[in-house]
Amino acid sequence: MGKNLSEFPIQYIKGVGPHRAKLLNNLGITTVEDALYYLPYRYEDRKNIKKISSLGYGQLETVIGKVISAEVIKLRKGSLKLFELTVSDGSGLLKGKWFNQPFMKKNFKIGQEVILSGIVKRNPYLGAGFEVDNPEYEFPTDDGDAFIHTARIVPVYRTTAGLSVRQLRTIMFNLLNTCIGDISDPVPEEILERHKLPGLNESIMNSHFPDIESCPKSSSGSSISRETGIDIFNRRASIYQKRLSFNELFMFELGLSVLKKGKDIERGIAFNSDGVLVGRLHDMLPFRLTGAQQRVFEDILHDMKRPHPMNRLLQGDVGCGKTIIAIMAMLVAVECGYQSVLMVPTEILAEQHYINIHKIIEDMGLNICLLTGSSNTLRVTRDALRRGIASGEINIVIGTHALIQEGIEFKNLGLVIIDEQHRFGVMQRSLMRKKGVNPDVLVMTATPIPRTLSMTLYGDLDYSVIDELPPERRPVITSLFNERQKDYIYKAISDEIKKGRQVYIVYPIIEETEKSNLKSAIIGKEALEKMFPGLKISLIHGKMRPQDKEGIMATFKSGGIDILVSTTVIEVGVDVPNASMMLIVHAERFGLAQLHQLRGRVGRGISQSYCFLLAYEPVGEDARRRLGIMVKSHDGFRIAEEDLAIRGPGEFFGTRQAGMPDLKIADIIRDARLLEIARREAFDLIDKDAGLKALPGLKRIVEQFWKGKIELFKTG
Ligand code: ADP
Ligand code: MG
Repeated sequence: MGKNLSEFPIQYIKGVGPHRAKLLNNLGITTVEDALYYLPYRYEDRKNIKKISSLGYGQLETVIGKVISAEVIKLRKGSLKLFELTVSDGSGLLKGKWFNQPFMKKNFKIGQEVILSGIVKRNPYLGAGFEVDNPEYEFPTDDGDAFIHTARIVPVYRTTAGLSVRQLRTIMFNLLNTCIGDISDPVPEEILERHKLPGLNESIMNSHFPDIESCPKSSSGSSISRETGIDIFNRRASIYQKRLSFNELFMFELGLSVLKKGKDIERGIAFNSDGVLVGRLHDMLPFRLTGAQQRVFEDILHDMKRPHPMNRLLQGDVGCGKTIIAIMAMLVAVECGYQSVLMVPTEILAEQHYINIHKIIEDMGLNICLLTGSSNTLRVTRDALRRGIASGEINIVIGTHALIQEGIEFKNLGLVIIDEQHRFGVMQRSLMRKKGVNPDVLVMTATPIPRTLSMTLYGDLDYSVIDELPPERRPVITSLFNERQKDYIYKAISDEIKKGRQVYIVYPIIEETEKSNLKSAIIGKEALEKMFPGLKISLIHGKMRPQDKEGIMATFKSGGIDILVSTTVIEVGVDVPNASMMLIVHAERFGLAQLHQLRGRVGRGISQSYCFLLAYEPVGEDARRRLGIMVKSHDGFRIAEEDLAIRGPGEFFGTRQAGMPDLKIADIIRDARLLEIARREAFDLIDKDAGLKALPGLKRIVEQFWKGKIELFKTG
């Protein structure tokens, strides 16, 4: 067989042919290599051959015996035919039954030895005796051929209509035995040795047809593990399966490290700030930075001083104080004569940032402007802004993705900050970057992505985290209510407002529709106005005109509104510290990340805050879990881990993962430790040899892995 298994069509493998090749294509298998990495989803232990007399009911058992009868029986009712095989091993009788498969009879001869394997049942008529429906069967042969379907740990594959598991297993067995010798291991020997990982051939073989005896119990702490070998395989925790996961993760991380290396060596701007503006900002602040904020700013400053572009991810839970860090970084750039831009996902957020910082910035004698899709609707103002940005007169721009859409030109953009990065795609990040000449880039996110995941999703970025909240923040007291307990909530709301505080009430939809019977913001507001005639209640939602939204947010912020009824438009970034209570109506309808973001709108001041989750029946099982987690946990990272566990990585990332290769074998949660190892090794390797010149085989495989996603190794 040819060496390049990734190009060898599966069709030409023994026992496949054009018809089965089509079926295999349905499973995503077109080449031999695809097949090698098409792993079983579970394994069955058909290794221990037992005496028939000692079989256990309800157990998966395997026996060897002689065929004493093989007959097709017509069942009395209807036209059903039953093929019944009786086998004896001297200790007892076992019946195998196949319904409506009379053709099975021709496979068996009286007196022949056969191995049967399956779940043992009690014979319903005899009261005793053993039988198995649809047993796996196999004949011991004299020429020493290995068993495929019995007398071993047997792989079970997901298959497709027209191709039985048994057929697929046979194909796999033949394929492995013919081409295992042609598989070359791309991972450098010393890496495998360092982490005690077995060779690739051995690992592929054992991941399909495990040889439990020779398999190390587990990679660590075998003394505490009471699992039998097959359980380790079923949990994909055997050293062989780990080796295959490692391969995939290693290819993945090699790609990311090549990308990152490419950016690191690009020339960028060395900002040589002496910190005058940042110092002045500090003098104006009513608080001191937390230790975590200081540390993170050091990271950023260090990057900004280097003559290469910064590419850093700043992660920090809602309310940890990322905005101030962004402002400090922008001041550094401005002080060095460059423009800075802060791009945020919603107009409300852009306006809020602008309102919060324009005074400070203007007091420093600098120019700042706000640019969103629909604010500044006057052509004149827009054109003036455009000119100011192009001439460099405007130092700091705050805006939404309108910044990209409207072809705004900068004079000398030095720093791009993207807030709440999870709302933007990788595309937008790179479009914004192109507005300058290799500007520094800082992306900030409050989506608390588990660390292992941020390594994959943002794997080409450096990483800083603010893991500390400002002092005197108290966790938001969160409780779950049902419809019958509403009065309690309304009482609490009115008491809170009497104390001078403000309240958010969040609805899943703006208006009632015929299709759903969800409570809506508009109806909700009307009901509240009847209930609390003396209070100032306003409504905000995404379909309102921007000027109106702006006005309402400004009034709310200044304390002129007691209850703000809203949809999820307030989900991200909104910061009104006097708001200390939130009611989320139909909480069962929201995702965990969204609930956490919403709740992050309260608990921003020093007073105790509350979040009421009002759930309407029926509350599904996942929803109940989500709500339980919200009540129990305040840590965004914990919540994200749980979210991920409920939804799985695909859903969790949704379309955001576009542009990333899929992982077929590895699972970033289960294989978190392996991922870390793979990342370290990949980055070390690329550090030493950026073009993988010394490892052409590995380079080819990495390119193949990332093909169609990102071009990794450019010439030059
Ligand atoms: P996020 O990280 O969610 O964007 P913000 O930057 O909006 O958080 O900060 C939340 C609130 O905390 C703001 O009102 C901000 O002024 C305040 N804040 C930020 N840093 C500190 C600090 N070190 N001490 C006290 N309050 C702070
Ligand atoms: Mg923020």
